[in-house]
Amino acid sequence: MLVELKDIACGASQRRVSRAVAIRHHDRVVVVGGNAPIVVQSMTNTDTADAIGTAIQIKELARAGSELVRITVNNPEAARAVPAIREQLDRMGIDVPLVGDFHYNGHSLLKDHPECAQALSKYRINPGNVGQGAKRDTQFAQMIEMACLYQKPVRIGVNWGSLDQSLLARIMDENSRRPIPLSSQTVMYQALITSAIESAQRAEELGLPGNQIILSCKVSGVQDLISVYREIGKYCDYPLHLGLTEAGMGSKGIVASTAALSVLLQEGIGDTIRISLTPEPGGDRCKEVFVAQEILQTMGLRKFMPMVIACPGCGRTTSTVFQELADDIQSFLREQMPIWKESFPGVENMNVAVMGCIVNGPGESKHANIGISLPGTGESPAAPVFIDGEKAMTLRGDQIARDFQKVVLDYVQERYGKAT
Ligand code: SF4
Repeated sequence: MLVELKDIACGASQRRVSRAVAIRHHDRVVVVGGNAPIVVQSMTNTDTADAIGTAIQIKELARAGSELVRITVNNPEAARAVPAIREQLDRMGIDVPLVGDFHYNGHSLLKDHPECAQALSKYRINPGNVGQGAKRDTQFAQMIEMACLYQKPVRIGVNWGSLDQSLLARIMDENSRRPIPLSSQTVMYQALITSAIESAQRAEELGLPGNQIILSCKVSGVQDLISVYREIGKYCDYPLHLGLTEAGMGSKGIVASTAALSVLLQEGIGDTIRISLTPEPGGDRCKEVFVAQEILQTMGLRKFMPMVIACPGCGRTTSTVFQELADDIQSFLREQMPIWKESFPGVENMNVAVMGCIVNGPGESKHANIGISLPGTGESPAAPVFIDGEKAMTLRGDQIARDFQKVVLDYVQERYGKAT
């Protein structure tokens, strides 16, 4: 039976309309919102007062593809280190804009350390952590004054764990007077969204242009994040920064972030993303950048690097050659990308297939730009390589991984080299 289909829409919904916020460092301009591509950002976990260690980690994050890097500025030592970090990065040719993360004392750090205020490209302000009572408004205003003075955009970043308690009490009071009170969960959502939007409006009243404000409302639950961002998106046109506040460790953190962000991105919500993974001891901080890129790339929203299509392997792959080759080629492509993206424009569109046996190997390989089908158990010890759908050669012996890398490199040079 032939199934009759009408044309089926495929792809994410149209992006929510938002203002475009430009974040600058010298000639580098990263735009968040508007029609700009969704920006990948990350955060260091070094002690910011350690200027060298922090600059090295920022360099690694930027080379991995982080388009903005946030650093905590938590005390005078950190604030003093910020200009040195910036200078060190500039000397290394790393122009990624830096975002200062402030809590509690941001108003005084920015005022007392003008070189820090100047070196940063954006300030993150948490309205729940700027002070209590009357001090709250004054200190928030002082931070906004600094942003106006140095012409820096801000992210007003509200967090579930540090919600403005006076605002929450006010909203709970109002709720208790309703004929039918809202659920405590809805009240919490309302408090988060209200805190972000009221703070943004206050910042505009204080003179900060509306196109210098980004909002976030982070929570740690997937369903909560989806609900909050769906709502906040309806009440304003500030660009939105997406991310779980604490995604967690290992696969749990990756799965939770992917689950939450893909729903929102599919609905056109979100202008910049950060994946807050807890690194394993000795783990690579750049993993949060790779996961962010992979979410956007697998959803077809951006392209960062060639895709490796690898089959999962099964009982037909009795050796580890196949897994090693898939891993090798993935690492090789990632290592090459900082250079390739300058020299070989378009290389990020390439697909490479690494398949474990003859069942799907040749078929999948033919669909990729380059594909290799390794011998499964009982198959002859030869690996046919397909280039642009045609069988180009057969690799044999114990150097298949090295030989295949050479095939990929030659293809990249020939197909994406500037001369062509
Ligand atoms: S391509 Fe072959 S090795 Fe890979 S999953 Fe399919 S049957 Fe198994």
